[in-house]
Amino acid sequence: MINCLQENKVRLQEELNTTDTKRQALGSPLQSQIEDVEVKLSDQTQELNRLCSELGTTDLEKHLEILVLENDRLKQELNSCQLQLQQLRVSLSGCTDCEHSKETSRLRERTTGLQLELEEKTRLLSELEQHLKDVLQEKTEREERLNKRIRDCHLALAKQSAPSVKFITKIVEVESSRTKQDLEEAQARNGYLQEQIGIQRQLLTEQEQQLQDSWQASAQLRAQIMMYEAELERSRGEMLAELRSLEDEKNQAIEEVFLHARSEMKTVHENLNGVRMNLLSIQPALKTLTGDYNSLKNHVRDFPCLLQDAVSQTKKEIYQAVEEAKATNQELLRKYKREMQLRKKCHNELVRLRGNIRVLCRVRPITREDGAGPDTRNIVSFDHDDDAILYVSHRGKASIFELDKVFRPHALQADIFQEVQALVTSCIDGYNVCIFAYGQTGSGKTYTMEGSPEDPGINQRALRLLFGEVAERSADWDLTITVSMAEIYNETLRNLLAKDPSEKLEIKLSPDGSGQLYVPGLTQVRVQSVEDINKVFELGRLNRATDFTNVNERSSRSHALLIVSVTGTNLTSGVRTTGKLNLVDLAGSERVGKSGAEGHRLREAQNINKSLLALGDVICALRSKQPYIPFRNSKLTYLLQDSLSGDSKTLMMVQVSPMEKNVNETVCSLKFAQRVRSVELGAVGRRTENQHFSSRQDCELESPPAVAQQGRLNPSHPGGSAVGKSTAGKRRLMASGEVNHRQGPAALPAL
Ligand code: ADP
Ligand code: MG
Repeated sequence: MINCLQENKVRLQEELNTTDTKRQALGSPLQSQIEDVEVKLSDQTQELNRLCSELGTTDLEKHLEILVLENDRLKQELNSCQLQLQQLRVSLSGCTDCEHSKETSRLRERTTGLQLELEEKTRLLSELEQHLKDVLQEKTEREERLNKRIRDCHLALAKQSAPSVKFITKIVEVESSRTKQDLEEAQARNGYLQEQIGIQRQLLTEQEQQLQDSWQASAQLRAQIMMYEAELERSRGEMLAELRSLEDEKNQAIEEVFLHARSEMKTVHENLNGVRMNLLSIQPALKTLTGDYNSLKNHVRDFPCLLQDAVSQTKKEIYQAVEEAKATNQELLRKYKREMQLRKKCHNELVRLRGNIRVLCRVRPITREDGAGPDTRNIVSFDHDDDAILYVSHRGKASIFELDKVFRPHALQADIFQEVQALVTSCIDGYNVCIFAYGQTGSGKTYTMEGSPEDPGINQRALRLLFGEVAERSADWDLTITVSMAEIYNETLRNLLAKDPSEKLEIKLSPDGSGQLYVPGLTQVRVQSVEDINKVFELGRLNRATDFTNVNERSSRSHALLIVSVTGTNLTSGVRTTGKLNLVDLAGSERVGKSGAEGHRLREAQNINKSLLALGDVICALRSKQPYIPFRNSKLTYLLQDSLSGDSKTLMMVQVSPMEKNVNETVCSLKFAQRVRSVELGAVGRRTENQHFSSRQDCELESPPAVAQQGRLNPSHPGGSAVGKSTAGKRRLMASGEVNHRQGPAALPAL
């Protein structure tokens, strides 16, 4: 059995050795393949070098460099293959940490332990066998000795116990004492021998017992040995299975590596073939390129001369072109100046034709604050093609109104200012300008003139524009801007920038004899920045609110004037100019109900009516170039006299609300506007004082100027023209006695 175990051990050892040998055997074909590839690679490199030397050192070396790079890459791939193979070898031989190796070493240790144990048991067994042999031998010897003695005793006994002996003995006993003694001795010896036989028998029994025990021990040992053998057999089976699986895995891994290496090799081969093909294909291209390169070399050699020629030629052309451009520029400049003069002339002519009085209309939007309902329905519409036309529908009829321009509800403050900014700048040139906002309370007059801090109106924008102009002209002009703020309430003029705003101001003739009017005590503040304007406006607003709890109420019943004066001195010629820009937010034009208004309220209404009427009359008289202009009929027109007459420019912004509830006042305001506008220009000769502006009280809603009846731009039409109402106007003027017909323009300085 020991031999059997040893045999197994030897076989296992052999199997392990065989596995190592196989592994090495598998590695060697790969090694040889790699060597083959290396040899091929070195061949390729040599081929490449040969090609390099053939091709020479032209620019085409770049192509060769690409191929060399390709070769290097292939080399790297080969190296990585080798490295992988190396790693695989190392992992197969030096794999100490893997599960299988651990299992193998465990099995090996266990086998060694079992071997040691087996050797120990074998030694014990051989000792026991030896001992058994000794005991058996001793027992045999003893048995032999005892048998011999028994035989001797039996012989002796046989000799002594025969019947003859017994007879003789009896005789001897009887006969001889000596014989008797001998008998006793023989009996004693017999007893002793019997005793010895008993002892020997006992000894034999013990020996037999010992032998039995030895046999039992031997049987136990045999059973143990068999168990160990079975154990060894099982371990060997496990080990074999383990070794088999290890071998399978190893084979598989080797197979995979082999396949991988083969595919890599294939790729390397293919790449090498590709490189070879490339090399072959680029050879002709390289030759062509060499030819090109040489021709280019020649070109480059000749290039500086060509370039120099071309540069000098181009220079000449450029100089010529510049000269031509200069001449053209001069010509253009001359033409431009001429055109500018012409344009200015045309502009002046246009202004003359248009008249210095323009009437615009702005329709305010319907806002959320106006609420909803039939009252707030829109009754105003516009003409798509003509921005001077406005339609108002009321009681199923559409009335048409024509003005110089109509701004729709969505028009921006900037759009409005765009239209008036030319007037504003003209005050720097020494013109006097008046801009009025006319309309019923709530129609947007203050919004148009003042606006909001985020979206300022004409006042603020005008001053900003003037600041800009002043800065622009500062090289030639020394310009100063001053502002005054005044209010006319109940025909009383008040200084809104005064310490005591309740003080009444008077309009007086200038003492210098120039015939100019002036207002003693009216504060004039010099402004240079937006901050200055804001301060001035704030003071004016505060003073205006002094007497009234409701500023809006006050503002709707008084005229607010912002008077901007621009004085300038030309730094070269010393010429002095003075221009005045009057920005007027008029009192609400709404008619106070005939009944109900009395006392204070009635007086207010009368004064407003009087001043607006006077303004209408003045504008009408100015537009129709009448010899007499009734400036003195109101404080407002009297104060603005020098800004309305002569070559002054006036703009009336008529504000209307588009809502159904305001239709009466809307129609009334538009009629007023249209009458102002429709007064014929330059018809001084044809005009008489009878054609003075009609009373605002004549504005009857019951007979609005229907479209069918309205003659556009026809002042003689009874529906909407001043002429149509001239009789009534005359009646009113004559009755009121406000117009002094004897008082011609010559009488004005006498005021
Ligand atoms: P008025 O000075 O004629 O009495 P306001 O200028 O005070 O009228 O305008 C009345 C209301 O209508 C104000 O709340 C104002 O903000 C608004 N409003 C007027 N015109 C416009 C407009 N073009 N865009 C927006 N809101 C406007
Ligand atoms: Mg207002």
